[in-house]
Amino acid sequence: MAAFTQPPVSLRFLFCDDAPPMPQPESNLNVPPVTNNSTLDSTSPLVQLDAGQQPESEAVSEPTADAAKGERRTPLELISWGLQKFADQPIVLTTSFGMEGCALMDMCSKAIEQNNLQPLSVACIDTGFFFPETKQLRQKLIDRYQNLNFITWETPVSIEEQRKTYGDMLWKNNPNMCCNIRKVQPMRENIVKYSIWITALRRSQTKERAGIPVLGWDWKYELLKFCPLATWSRADVWNYIQDNEVPFNQLHLQNYPSVSCFHCTKSVPGSSPDSEVRKGRWAGSEKDECGLHFSI
Ligand code: SF4
Repeated sequence: MAAFTQPPVSLRFLFCDDAPPMPQPESNLNVPPVTNNSTLDSTSPLVQLDAGQQPESEAVSEPTADAAKGERRTPLELISWGLQKFADQPIVLTTSFGMEGCALMDMCSKAIEQNNLQPLSVACIDTGFFFPETKQLRQKLIDRYQNLNFITWETPVSIEEQRKTYGDMLWKNNPNMCCNIRKVQPMRENIVKYSIWITALRRSQTKERAGIPVLGWDWKYELLKFCPLATWSRADVWNYIQDNEVPFNQLHLQNYPSVSCFHCTKSVPGSSPDSEVRKGRWAGSEKDECGLHFSI
């Protein structure tokens, strides 16, 4: 963990006047409520700092006037607000080209166009183990979204170097180390260039994600983390993909509800594109996170 660091002052007071209301958790999910601070005023820190306890991601408090009315903002509205609010900050959307990331790219592209904003950086961490279908999807997205700047982050450790140093099947013998080398380290090296990190995490994906805030301070990388899809279900995402004809990984039509590296992704018989499961990832093990968002 990095030395105790407070969110930059310029980011700590962003939400005192014009923030969107915090969407409420889905009623059918047993998830913790999003942090709200009904007494927040212009002098309150947005993040309640506690030197003895630093969660990896902590909700940024927001004014509750609208939230108290039970108003919900759609992900597209949240993105439109966020991209305008942080227009003068370096923003990056990271993706592994999952269905959620594709939906988010489409929304960002629309918000950029509607609000005449600068192109957004979209970063993918290429582990070297992408399925051919994932590479095809990446090219389709590049061709379709001209106002998104696609960039690739990758480890300097080649697959051959990894094999020589750690053996043929590090992904099987020590998947946490493999994920650390091929995903987490490239992330750490590159995310420092940005102040705002947009991700496609949803609360209903895993137990670790159940409490994620829509907007929060990420202690791991020390920047604002924005999760506009936090309250959406997998079915919501699939409906959006279909309604907006967004390109998606064709493996989703072949019983792969979630797609990552080919070494660690299996089909899940009986699943469908809107299945709320990650069972096909690291099948047969307890592992369900790669370490990008939560420590493993
Ligand atoms: S998902 Fe599997 S192959 Fe990919 S980086 Fe992690 S352990 Fe390695």
